[in-house]
Amino acid sequence: MSILADARELAASGPVCDACLGRVFAERSFGLTNAERGRSLRIAAALDDDEPYDPVNTEDCWVCEGYCAQFDEWAERCAEAMEGTEVATYQVGTRAPPLVEENELLLREGAGLPEDAGERFKSEFNREVGKRVGRLTGTEVDFTRPDVQFLLDIDADTVEAQINSAFVYGRYRKLKRDIPQTEWPCRECDGSGFVGKESCDHCGGSGYLYDESVEGFVAPVVMDVMDGVDAKFHGAGREDVDALMLGTGRPFVVEILEPRRRDIDVEQLEGDVNAMAGGSIEVEGLRLATYDMVERVKKLDASKQYRAAVEFDDDVSEEALQSALDELEGATIEQYTPHRVDHRRASITRTRHVYDTSGELEDPRHATVEIHGEGGLYIKELVSGDEGRTNPSLAGILGTGSIVTALDVIAVEGEDEPFEDDDFFKE
Ligand SMILES: [Zn+2]
Ligand SMILES: [Zn+2]
Repeated sequence: MSILADARELAASGPVCDACLGRVFAERSFGLTNAERGRSLRIAAALDDDEPYDPVNTEDCWVCEGYCAQFDEWAERCAEAMEGTEVATYQVGTRAPPLVEENELLLREGAGLPEDAGERFKSEFNREVGKRVGRLTGTEVDFTRPDVQFLLDIDADTVEAQINSAFVYGRYRKLKRDIPQTEWPCRECDGSGFVGKESCDHCGGSGYLYDESVEGFVAPVVMDVMDGVDAKFHGAGREDVDALMLGTGRPFVVEILEPRRRDIDVEQLEGDVNAMAGGSIEVEGLRLATYDMVERVKKLDASKQYRAAVEFDDDVSEEALQSALDELEGATIEQYTPHRVDHRRASITRTRHVYDTSGELEDPRHATVEIHGEGGLYIKELVSGDEGRTNPSLAGILGTGSIVTALDVIAVEGEDEPFEDDDFFKE
């Protein structure tokens, strides 16, 4: 059958609005709305038959029951729902009334057309309301990860605006020891600060094992500026609580849940965080990042560079130290899971590479060494040998007990590419 014959057949089923008529032919002639398709077909059929043109009032449509006349109204409700919230991108999702979906099938069936001819009511609703939301609010549609997702439930007559998280990337330096990266809830009281009705002795009632954390210095400031409801801190690995993080710092992402502000001044934020931290930590290179940056920060293979203060049980000569460090440079190290590491983790032997080593003696019993190694290399154990569980080791090669008395991380860099890839930043 020709398209005009199909249109006549569809229109004969009862009052069908232009949009519902045109939607059956939605895949034809890009650049038209379904209402334009429907109206044009109705006119063309009338001309072809030389009959008077008989438009249909959308409110009278038996298929959509008049909902196709409500695009503007729903778009205004969306705009209202996000008022006071800064977003750049949006997406509209529609829960269509089951009755309308059924009517759409009946319409096509009645005209002998396939059930899936054209497109669904909800697809048109998403697009038509979406276009209007964009115009009303000056924002752009984004089908991957928009700042706000609207859910229109037509039967329930509700508009829900789900605000997606915003992300700030940066690098932190930890300038004081004994600061954990993330807030460390007390396990005795599960972070509540109370055991029964009594204040928890273990944490002094604070709910946390440490008063300060990198997260605690950074996340609340970002949350405040972005006016969110909660914050999550994602680090590219973590150093020991008693280790400093120096040099170029460690990459991290702060995720702000349901932010009302997104387009923030990151340089000012950087200054605010650093001022609040009072020298305990420092951040730099803050940038607005995409959702995907969280996974990148957590998963990208990264090498670590360490500086360790080492103490020996016996006197060591400069020559012996240099030759031991030379032997470790480029070596493959076998490490059985150290005792000090989380006991919930399965114990395994794993191999890690040492890339570079250097160092010098302070006196016969003390040295400072720098080690650049593959991610996951346990440095304290590389020095001590961990009672034979790490091989080779500095202590093993020197033939004398060696321990790390202070450990600093001086660089965390991607093994194959830098963390800072423009694809993972906004703008
Ligand atoms: Zn209709
Ligand atoms: Zn406690």
